Amino acid sequence: MKNILAIVGRPNVGKSTLFNRLTESRDAIVEESSGVTRDRNYGESHWNGMEFAVVDTGGYVIGSEDVFEEEIRKQVKLAIEETDIILFLVDVIDGITPMDEDVASLLRKTDKPVFVVSNKVDNTKRYNDSSEFYALGLGEVYSISSINGSGTGDLLDAVVKEFKEKPEGEKASDLPKYAVVGRPNVGKSSFINALLGDDRNIVTSVAGTTRDTINTPYNRFGYEFELVDTAGIRKKKKVHENIEFYSVLRAIKAIENSDVCFLMIDAKEGIEAQDIAILRLIQKNNKGLVIVVNKWDLIEKSSNTHLEFTRTIKAKIAPFTDVPIIFTSVHEKQRLFKALDAANQVSENRKRKITTSKLNEHLLPLIQSFPPPAASRERYIKIKYITQLPLAYPAFAFFCNLPQDVKDSYARFLENKIREEYNFTGSPIRLYFRDK
Ligand code: GDP
Ligand code: GDP
Repeated sequence: MKNILAIVGRPNVGKSTLFNRLTESRDAIVEESSGVTRDRNYGESHWNGMEFAVVDTGGYVIGSEDVFEEEIRKQVKLAIEETDIILFLVDVIDGITPMDEDVASLLRKTDKPVFVVSNKVDNTKRYNDSSEFYALGLGEVYSISSINGSGTGDLLDAVVKEFKEKPEGEKASDLPKYAVVGRPNVGKSSFINALLGDDRNIVTSVAGTTRDTINTPYNRFGYEFELVDTAGIRKKKKVHENIEFYSVLRAIKAIENSDVCFLMIDAKEGIEAQDIAILRLIQKNNKGLVIVVNKWDLIEKSSNTHLEFTRTIKAKIAPFTDVPIIFTSVHEKQRLFKALDAANQVSENRKRKITTSKLNEHLLPLIQSFPPPAASRERYIKIKYITQLPLAYPAFAFFCNLPQDVKDSYARFLENKIREEYNFTGSPIRLYFRDK
């Protein structure tokens, strides 16, 4: 489970510039072309081998040009509740403003680590001006320039020292963990309530891997697994229900704590950019995936309707299309167990191990017939052997002479060949090209 770092502060202090610097060269969860700007405010980063997630809370404020103070206060409160470490960004050119004081007074109340970061310190003269921010009463002031990167190394050195250990090893059980994620109102809580029913015996929850997630063991009708974070879903916190930022963070935590995710979408609305963004998060975290198209009762159907739906969804989720898609109606209790069956199968697939001898026997002849295109004249790529890495998800290392020259399209070709031969449906696959 990764630590989550939030960047808070009033508009124009440089939050998104810093966010971009921290998450640089890492793929945003939505590609530029999709035009869904708000989804670019969650990204991943690492420093000294520590991975963490970064959230630019300002990105969730609508029309951040002339933002309401109340809106900023809300974002800061959410950051305090939902993230692990807070970077409070201020602007050395403007000095302390009343809005900064407002934010500081909220931040002084939390026990979570807060870093005061004086931004736009592009030169040494401004460095001295940063000392003004000690008056915010939040301790050490870190001077950085988000634009040229100076000072960010020292800041991150201090930040990673505050990371809490969130060991994955301390799992309460070996049962597979399933999470139900999706946009608001698609039917997530209805689905979970339908599964759990009112049976009191099963609602003995065990703590998840973070203090604010709870898993509910499920053991009925021959199914055995843990549902991630169901308490949060069952008892919705009314105040935050519709806040984008909150629901994104919920989804992130649920995904990271799970083995397989049900991505639930509303049949009436179809699959949209935000659903794809969640799907990419699942994929990026190497978790299993089952797509559940709920409210199927509301759709007028002919014999091919589900095939048309499947085709449309696959076109939108490409290239990761080897995924089960189940059409459910929670209201009519249709195919709920089919969804569970699919998750069980995906959980098995994700754990599948292929022996090195089988892999080489199968893939090397294929690679010989369709070798990777040469990077340039005389730079022929030669893949020597393949082995599966001992990880919780399917990952394969291809040992070759020019790993950096292997194109993405060739990697996809290899992935497809692996998927044709072995059942990895619903599970992302990672390929690594390595020098001997
Ligand atoms: P946000 O509203 O807090 O997300 O702020 P932005 O990241 O959009 O930045 C606001 C403005 O400040 C932009 O014009 C940035 O180019 C500028 N800016 C951000 N960081 C720095 C910096 O380190 N130095 C200077 N000189 N300008 C910066
Ligand atoms: P959540 O926000 O994703 O947890 O969604 P809820 O479980 O609160 O459901 C949102 C609304 O959709 C509620 O009014 C449910 O009764 C309704 N709903 C859930 N599942 C179905 C379904 O299969 N068919 C229909 N017609 N409505 C559903």
